[in-house]
Amino acid sequence: MNKINWNFDNTYSGLSNSFKENINPIPVIKPELILINKKLADELNLDFSKISNKELSEIFSGNLLPEGSNSIAQAYAGHQFGHFTMLGDGRAVLIGEHVSKKNKKYDIQFKGSGKTAFSRNGDGRAALGPMLREYIISEAMNYLNIPTTRGLAVVKTGEKVLREKNLQGAILTRVASSHIRVGTFQYISARQNSDELNIIFNYTLERHYPEIKKTENPALELLERLIEKQCDLIINWMRVGFIHGVMNTDNMTVSGETIDYGPCAFMDIYDPKAVFSSIDKMGRYAYCNQPAIAKWNLARFAECLIPLINKDFDKAIDIATQKINSFEKQYEEKWIVMMKNKLGLFNSEESDKSLILDLLTWMHKKKADYTNTFCDLMDLGPKKEVIYNDIDFIEWKKRWKKRILKNNNTKKKSVELMRNHNPLVIPRNHRVEEVLVSAEEGNLEPLNNFLKILENPYNKQKNTSNFQSLSGSNKKYVTFCGT
Ligand code: AMP
Ligand code: MG
Repeated sequence: MNKINWNFDNTYSGLSNSFKENINPIPVIKPELILINKKLADELNLDFSKISNKELSEIFSGNLLPEGSNSIAQAYAGHQFGHFTMLGDGRAVLIGEHVSKKNKKYDIQFKGSGKTAFSRNGDGRAALGPMLREYIISEAMNYLNIPTTRGLAVVKTGEKVLREKNLQGAILTRVASSHIRVGTFQYISARQNSDELNIIFNYTLERHYPEIKKTENPALELLERLIEKQCDLIINWMRVGFIHGVMNTDNMTVSGETIDYGPCAFMDIYDPKAVFSSIDKMGRYAYCNQPAIAKWNLARFAECLIPLINKDFDKAIDIATQKINSFEKQYEEKWIVMMKNKLGLFNSEESDKSLILDLLTWMHKKKADYTNTFCDLMDLGPKKEVIYNDIDFIEWKKRWKKRILKNNNTKKKSVELMRNHNPLVIPRNHRVEEVLVSAEEGNLEPLNNFLKILENPYNKQKNTSNFQSLSGSNKKYVTFCGT
């Protein structure tokens, strides 16, 4: 059974039952392999060469549990749209932590694996469309060089799941450096048991931040690390126009990886207030709100750490508040650097910020495509679009050219810098929908072609321009939670 080199070390399932429920995935009727991620398998040192697709489908549906796995549902809580709720893996199980030859640990989770103690009113299952969507977008994020969980496989279950209508059931195998969330800490913190808090805290340090174990105040260090990681992550999202859509605290990892691709989408037309999620009526998780929400979530994380930061409660609050309030400055500084990279600006000039803001204002006013505007500046757009003949844009471009040519710099050098920060291809919403429709009808070719293109977002390939073009439809794109 271990033909594929699983190497499990199940540290999380070794924690007490306060942290999880021991539960196996519920077997499915007729598993069928839809996607298998060979590149990721290589990274994990898994070998699928001696195994049939039939066997792979049995494994990645949870029908055939690998030797050495020890399956659990993890307990966690979370603020969902600002409201605190007890959650947990209601439709997922962690089968174990696979350790690669480089001694790197990867959580292997089956999403859509059936009911658990945390399912509340849900059926514990997932539908094919949303699982493929998570696979596509998380792979795209990975190749955009953005920390993320990944998809190792998608299997159809042969069962129906009832949503607004009957849909095909599926299970996604999700790989993450861990599934510890801000919400995991909130869950433990709400139980007010200091031993348990110490356990999850030490576990997190051991797993993700061993270098801070011996520092003077490891809890404060952990907070600082997470602020930095999450700040970097959001900067990356802003760079490529990614809108997560449900930045609840249970969907924020302590590893700094993007997790839970529900109603997420990439922005096309530049609009700071862009929201795609059907349930986000107030725009809480709009594009421009992502940094403020990250800070809010980090403050919830800080609250959990208070007893570990200082024995004196007031002192601990003061210290943590100061740290949390450092987020804005850090974000602002990193944002400028990111935008300067997108525009190929070396060194610093006082007028840089206004140059950046003027471009964004123009994009917003003229409803220009966020990604393609930067492609146009690099002369790598799909075709010369009329919008870029706009007089205000031409005037702005003159200022930009003058700026990049300062200090004997050349446009070539600037474009080299820009190429590393501006993708030519993002998973455009209409393309995602298109390949999902085909896949649901049984044609996987468009999906596989799309995944191939997304593996190389910064380089021009034969048919790149096909994937740069806009939808051509005026219909507003709406995304759903996919539960
Ligand atoms: P998510 O929207 O994926 O972040 O999920 C939020 C919470 O709802 C988590 O506790 C999930 O496990 C739970 N959940 C989502 N879908 C289902 C489902 N179909 N059955 C049971 N629980 C679910
Ligand atoms: Mg979630």
